[in-house]
Formats: sequence, C-alpha cells, structure tokens
Amino acid sequence: MNDQSITYTLQPFDPAGHRFRVVMTIPRPQAKGQVVSLPAWIPGSYLIRDFARHIESVSAKAGSTSLGVEKIDNHSWRVEPCAGPLQITIVVYAWDLSVRGAHLDETHGFFNGTSVFLQARGAEQFPCRVRLLPPPEPLRWLVYTSLPSAGRDNPGNNGFREYRADCYDALIDHPVEMGTPRVIRFTACGAPHELVFTGLAPNLDLKRIAADVRRICEAQIRFFEPVTQRAPFLDCADRYVFMTMLTGDGYGGLEHRASTALMAARSDLPVTGCEKAPEGYQTFLGLVSHEYFHTWNVKRIKPAAFAPYDLTRESHTRLLWIFEGFTSYYDDLMLLRSGVIDRKDYLRILARQIGGVLTTPGRHRQSVADSSFDAWTRYYKQDESSHNTIVSYYTKGSLIALGLDLTIRARTQGRYSLDDVMRLLWNRFGRDFYTGGGKGLPERAFPALVREATGVDVAEELRHWAYGTHDVPLAELLAGAGIALRMKAGSPRPSLDARVRTQGDHLTLASVTHDGAAHRGGLSAHDVLVAVDGIRVGRTPATLDALLDRHRPGEIVQIHVFRRDELREFKVTLAAPSESDCVLEDMPAERAQ
Ligand SMILES: [Zn+2]
Repeated sequence: MNDQSITYTLQPFDPAGHRFRVVMTIPRPQAKGQVVSLPAWIPGSYLIRDFARHIESVSAKAGSTSLGVEKIDNHSWRVEPCAGPLQITIVVYAWDLSVRGAHLDETHGFFNGTSVFLQARGAEQFPCRVRLLPPPEPLRWLVYTSLPSAGRDNPGNNGFREYRADCYDALIDHPVEMGTPRVIRFTACGAPHELVFTGLAPNLDLKRIAADVRRICEAQIRFFEPVTQRAPFLDCADRYVFMTMLTGDGYGGLEHRASTALMAARSDLPVTGCEKAPEGYQTFLGLVSHEYFHTWNVKRIKPAAFAPYDLTRESHTRLLWIFEGFTSYYDDLMLLRSGVIDRKDYLRILARQIGGVLTTPGRHRQSVADSSFDAWTRYYKQDESSHNTIVSYYTKGSLIALGLDLTIRARTQGRYSLDDVMRLLWNRFGRDFYTGGGKGLPERAFPALVREATGVDVAEELRHWAYGTHDVPLAELLAGAGIALRMKAGSPRPSLDARVRTQGDHLTLASVTHDGAAHRGGLSAHDVLVAVDGIRVGRTPATLDALLDRHRPGEIVQIHVFRRDELREFKVTLAAPSESDCVLEDMPAERAQ
C-alpha cells in the first residue's frame, strides 16, 4: 500500500436516523493546515447541490490530540496544522431518495462518493482505500458496487471489506448499494454485469429483464468495438452494476464509469407469469440503454471542460447536446438494433420525441449550444416560462443526431453514418481516457471530426441547428429515407395555448405560451381556473376540456380565475387546436427499396 494513500472507513451506523459515519485518514497533511471539501456538484447532473450541507459534524485529531476545524467556504474546512497522520470524522445525513445523493434507512443504504467522501485538497491524485463496515445488528446486508476490491476477498463478509480507487475522481464515480436487494447476473460479450433492484416489487421477472438488458449491452459493446467486442469498463472495474431503486413513480438515472444508479416505477417492470410486459417497460429499457451508452459517451468521450472536472464550481461547456442529445438518440436506436423493440415501436417513440421538440416555442429562442452552457441556471432550474425561452439539449440534441445521421447517409449513398463519427470519437478520445491521456473533446472540434470520419461537411448545418435556433429539417430528411413525417392536432378541441395542472382541489395554468390565446387574453401562469362562461372548472384537466369542447376556434369565452386571492375576469379568443402530435409512417413507394 502506498503510504500516501488516503483511507476512508464508512459505516451506516444509524439507519433509523439516516446517518453514515466516515473516518478519513490523511497520512501527510499539508503543513499550513489541511483543507478538505465535498464536491459542490455531481458529474452528470449539472446543478450546484452543496452536498456539504448534509454534513452534521466534522471533527479532527492527530493521534490522541484533538485539532481545530474551521469552515472556510460552502464546501470546505481547514484543519489546524499537525504532523499527521490526520484523522477526520464526519457524520453525514443521508435521506435523499434520488440517484444523486445518499439514502439510508433500515431497508438499505445507497451513496454516491460525492456525498460522503471528503476530498483532501492537494492530494486528489493519491490512491484511495475504502473500508465498508456493516450496519448495526441485527441487520445483515450485502454490498454492491463497481469499486474494485483491495486484495483478496473473504466470502463471509458479504462485501463489507476494503476497496480501492486510483484517485479521488475514481473514488466518487462508483456509487455503493447495500442491503438485501434482488440481484441477477449475466455476461455481455464476456463481461460480467449485475442488475440490483432495491424496493418492494413482488414477482419481479428478473430473468426476462436480464435477457433484454443483456441484448442492449451487447449491441452497444459491438457498436463501439466491432472488432475486439471489449466492454469499456474493463479499464477500471471487473463488472458493471445497474443499481435500481424501485418506487411507485420513480424515474431517473445517473451514469458512472462502471455502473449506473437508476430510479424506476415498479409498475414499469415485468412480473413473472405474465407474458405481456407493462407499457412502461420500454421506458425502463430506454433508461437502461441511455445510461449504459454514457459509459462511452460522457464518461470516457468527454468535453474538454470535464477533463478533469472542477467540482468546486460550475463547469461550462456548449457541447451537452452531443453528450446528452446523441446519447438520447442512440438509447432508443439501440433498443431497435438489439431487437428488444420493433420498427413500429421505434417510429412511435421517435415521433413522440419530434413532437415534443416541435411544440416547444423556446427552441426559437435558445440554441442547444447555449442551453448546454446555461444548464446550471436554466435547464436545471426550470420555471413556468421555461418552455417559452429554453430548449432541451437532450431532445433537440437527439434530433440533431438524427438529422446528421440522415444527412451523412444521404450524401455518402449509405456508405457512412453517424455511427462512424461516434467510433472516431471513441478511438480518439474515449478508449484510453482513464489509462492514458485523459484528453477531452475541444469545444469547436466536432465539425472537423465529422468530416474526418465521413468525408461530409456539416459545419453549415451545425451552425444553424446547434449554434442557431433553426429546426432540423426532418420532414425533408426523413422523406429521403422513405419515412413520411406529419404533424396533426391531438383533438379538434379549440385551444387556450396553455398547459394546466391539478394543484390540490384546483386546476391552475402551469404555463402560458407566448402570443397564444391565453396570453393575448391576459391569463397568466399560476392563475387558478374558476369558471368558463360561468360554469365551474373542476380539479382535473378533463373538466376544462369538457367546457372547451362546447366551443369552436375563434369564439370568445369568459374565464374567471383567482390570481393570488383576487378574482379576475378575462375574455379569451380560443385558438385553433395545436398540431402537437407527430406521426411517422413508412412511405409505400419506398417500402420496396
Ligand atoms: Zn444522460
């Protein structure tokens, strides 16, 4: 063991009180007083989260001598100078049921390193060791993580043992789940994978899930490494771990270099003895595919701004439309290519995504490059005006990927595609990221790389689609591929050009589209709908729909609302139904080709 190694001992010592205790030892602290800190944010989720606010106590000692500890900013403490080794003990409150934080009760423990492991400033490159201690009796838990073990394992310890990481950046990129989850293992292209499910879900059809996830994993490994079929995470771990928390309505994921943390709705997963999978199962598989694709795209192929991450403050890049958008394009495409969904399902999913973008007015106000840059203050801090003013680098980014893919295929008569660009990015920036170089994609390098990979110059397209606010001309591009795109109204009902939401016993305006019917009539987001033409609006959207169904576009209705606690009356001229539904269909003439 390197005598510079930073060591941590973590124990879920108070499950009922949701508290972990972590003891950190720094063999040679800084002479002027060691500074330690927690990250301000977690990679993959671009918002300052101030994880340090969940630290209940910090104490320090050297030998038997207690040392003074002073907090010096939102995330950092300075310990008074000592000869070392320096031992710092923190107690962390862990009651955040999300993929980004830490969560502990009598049923399980989960943590990201960003919530529990202090960073010894100036020693970030030193190797780390972590000893995991079990919870108090009578709890008997097992540990699941992609963190590599340090030394030989003792089978009786259920994973409560010592782990290692090459540096702090590696340490915080392997979340840990502990408890008594349902687990199934499989190999994909020879590489071990674990599916770990926490949360009650009787009769979960683990075998079916594992078979489907395996197909997705193999399709992706073969996509990036058609020759060697080598799984990417073998550069740093001996397995890949999917750790999923099942709840009533959970949804979300966070990518890591050899694992992912997921939240899913238990009703989205198949149960044994029931042949038909729930409708939401494709959503779950799409999430799995998305996070797994990130193992290449963003965990190894990264923007230069993330190589390395600056975890003390926001890290700005204009490229999230490549890292999240292209991942969103390939997540569903990989479901199709692996055969877990068919072409009809794929076109339906794609149509929904296109419809979502084309009905967001903000796409004409913000480019995806700017949306990426402002992720920290706008995409992650959305409010009632966001759909008028911002665009999602996920969804429009995925349409840019589709547009590029179709453009490259069309101009090269099908010889090249966006796949070739992804593989060039992987060869150039990704494959050796953790074992050599560690070089990220420069902000302006992408168009030249597309040309290098395919011979096609898309600089002009990207200027409009990614750095400007133009729509990707998908109707035209898809027609060239034999697919007809049309937009249609979801119903003949006249529109208020506003979205509504049930809040308690009321229906309120969630958002109002700029220059739409509600806006022009004077209505505002947060208005509580009271009556249309003197008839009360109930608490559900259907009650409003029923009232609007009595009218035609162009008619004027009287709408009463409460704004704050004041009753107001407005005259609103109803708009034509908005064409919000996208339909994609194979063109008959092309079907033969
Ligand atoms: Zn993502």
